[in-house]
Amino acid sequence: MQTNERELLNAVAFIKEHDDFLVVSHVQPDGDAVSSTLAVGWLLSCLGKKYTMINEGPIPRRMSYLWHADQILNLSETSPGRTYKYIICVDCADFQRVGETKNCFEEGALILNIDHHPTNDAYGSVNLIRPQAAATAEILFDLLLAFDFPLDVDAATAIYTGLLTDTGGFRYSNTTPEVMRIASKLLEYGVDGPGLSEKLLEQMTFSQLKILTRALNKLERTEDGRISWVSITDEDLAECGAIHEDLEGIVNYPRNVMGVEVGMLFKVINDRAVKVSMRSAGNVDVAAVCQSFGGGGHTRAAGARLEGTLDEVVARVVERVKEQL
Ligand code: 5GP
Ligand code: MN
Repeated sequence: MQTNERELLNAVAFIKEHDDFLVVSHVQPDGDAVSSTLAVGWLLSCLGKKYTMINEGPIPRRMSYLWHADQILNLSETSPGRTYKYIICVDCADFQRVGETKNCFEEGALILNIDHHPTNDAYGSVNLIRPQAAATAEILFDLLLAFDFPLDVDAATAIYTGLLTDTGGFRYSNTTPEVMRIASKLLEYGVDGPGLSEKLLEQMTFSQLKILTRALNKLERTEDGRISWVSITDEDLAECGAIHEDLEGIVNYPRNVMGVEVGMLFKVINDRAVKVSMRSAGNVDVAAVCQSFGGGGHTRAAGARLEGTLDEVVARVVERVKEQL
């Protein structure tokens, strides 16, 4: 147990004192969101607690190997009107991130907010927020160990998955000595590290490669070459036979261009809204930029949803990023 021990103890007490929990994470869940949901589920099942895991949308298919991944209910599979008093939110920087699963929260529900985003606004009744953690899964490693039973390979695999995906395969600047220490312990529980890297970072579906090609065909940059971006519409997805999860990782391509400070992916949501994903080479705090648009995230990886057509949003966002250079 480290720095914010009080927060950790409060989280332990919240879990011990209550029962019949709802575990949720953010819309369009990534590896850390799914893994953290399942690590909490695993903990609750060890404690003999009743719990339900729900996400607004489907879980990425490539995560189906995770323990009980098929038990995370899509909102459409839940019983209408069933609400929960005790909520555990993982990897959600603000309340909006839970999306429509908020309809399953009882009026006056108590929320345990476990997250690693520096922009987290502490919306929980109990908050366990560690901005220095590489992934929410890293916080869960400590939380699980605070209970008196050993981890098993299922829990270890979930936590390793969150670390692996949020550090881009132990490569990004959030790959601290602590991350490597935890990862090495997890490997000793029998986690198949190379197998997970292959599954999560190397393998691509055909449609994923098609949508990547299409995105790269639309690669743009500012005159000085310091901002670069791609954009994706629903037509692009349909014509490539791709779905939202196939967009994972595309934003790294504009970011990886030499000389680029900020790389972006614009995804059209509808006629009036666009989602932007931002990645920074290190000099621009993209969490702050995204926060100025009502979003959030990390210094080097952030996102926001903006109102407007694609052209309007691109122009507005590029202008804002230029001001930060
Ligand atoms: P991505 O670009 O991969 O969707 O997200 C990058 C990071 O920014 C993730 O940590 C994600 O949780 C966060 N993020 C993405 N979109 C939003 C948003 O709309 N609001 C907030 N608060 N964070 C976001
Ligand atoms: Mn995360």
